[in-house]
Amino acid sequence: MPQEPSSDLSADRQQHRAPRLLTWRRSWLRVHRWLGLSVGLVFVLIGLTGSVLVFDHAIDEWLNPGLLISNASGARANVEQVIAVAEEHFGADALSVTKPRIANGVWSVWFASGSETQPSYTAVYVDPYMATVTGQRTWGNDLMSWMYRLHYQLAAGTTGAIAVGIIGLLVMVSIFSGVYLWWPMWRHSWRSGFTVRSGKRLSFDLHKVVGIVSALLLMVLAFTGVFMEFHSQCVEAIKSVARVTSPPEEAELKSKIIDGATPLTANAAIFIAARICPDGVFDHLHPPLGADGHYEVAFRQSNEVQTTFGRSQVFLDQYSGEVLAIRLSNESTIADAFIASQFPLHSGEALGFAGRITVFVSGLTPAILYMTGLLVWRRKTRRNTLVLKQSLTDADRGPTATSCEPFFTLNVDDNNTFVSDEQSDGRELPSLK
Ligand SMILES: [Zn+2]
Repeated sequence: MPQEPSSDLSADRQQHRAPRLLTWRRSWLRVHRWLGLSVGLVFVLIGLTGSVLVFDHAIDEWLNPGLLISNASGARANVEQVIAVAEEHFGADALSVTKPRIANGVWSVWFASGSETQPSYTAVYVDPYMATVTGQRTWGNDLMSWMYRLHYQLAAGTTGAIAVGIIGLLVMVSIFSGVYLWWPMWRHSWRSGFTVRSGKRLSFDLHKVVGIVSALLLMVLAFTGVFMEFHSQCVEAIKSVARVTSPPEEAELKSKIIDGATPLTANAAIFIAARICPDGVFDHLHPPLGADGHYEVAFRQSNEVQTTFGRSQVFLDQYSGEVLAIRLSNESTIADAFIASQFPLHSGEALGFAGRITVFVSGLTPAILYMTGLLVWRRKTRRNTLVLKQSLTDADRGPTATSCEPFFTLNVDDNNTFVSDEQSDGRELPSLK
């Protein structure tokens, strides 16, 4: 009979008249759920370590006052003395020297340690008044720098860094899907998008509200994090559309060796460089490496967003003091400034203390989202199992709403709240109105 298949088909269509949007929502819900279940826990770790790292320097100084804080006062030692005592202590040429971070903080003089295949960097700390060494440590071994390694590379080198970068990208997809799933709740009524109800709906509602409130911040943190993990690729991509200032070529930075001449002192190098960058505050210096090496003197100019590092560089011939190259932040392009702002945006320091607190709190949200998300998912799986069992033991009736009575509200929750007004069965929670 020709009629039967066609009427079957129309009945079928009636039954599955779910709009395409609904299918989309189901797919995004699935994406959101599986991203959460697969990379969620790592994201929790990255978030929590990130929150701690917002205050890394302060915590480090609090944990290691003998190493990082000076109790002395009086006249300050000059850079030349600081480098000299550190080099004598370590028995090698210093790579760089960074001024004390805070008023009674110590100088950090950095040295290459480790091997060619496994490079590492050791800081020797020097008291700013006494010009004495307070101690040394290799980056990545103490608590804060180890946590840093955990945060940006899961303490697993380059491979770990790539993994974190990829996880960051997946997190961005997860945030997008979360906002997409939340959107109809907001459209339905502002209250349904932001209400937290008690009881069985608590975990779902917490997930929903904490998720939407933190979405934009987490997106910025994930973006800036991914940018830094794939820094060179991102910079190359920007170069194709905007002007990015390149660092000077190595060939430009060779000092002219003068027979019998002694190199300039670090103090003299800073003095000369400061005339090129008069509005900058001295930040760090790289002494010349080798007979034809150069001085790099770095300042922080007032337009620099990052407060913990200076990016304005003056390169000098180590004998004549001739300026070999200049790279000042107040002459940087918009693209340069964008690239330089990734770290301070990520750490929150771009917006001062309030920014740091905001990033600190944002770093805690992945843990809340993970736990609440897991609860919602477990309830749903448990309910589905019950429905399945019920339909197996009572094949005639099948999984109707009454057959899963105890979980009815959650059923509505998961389906109606998630798919909200697209669902055509007309069941809606009164509290959603
Ligand atoms: Zn530098």
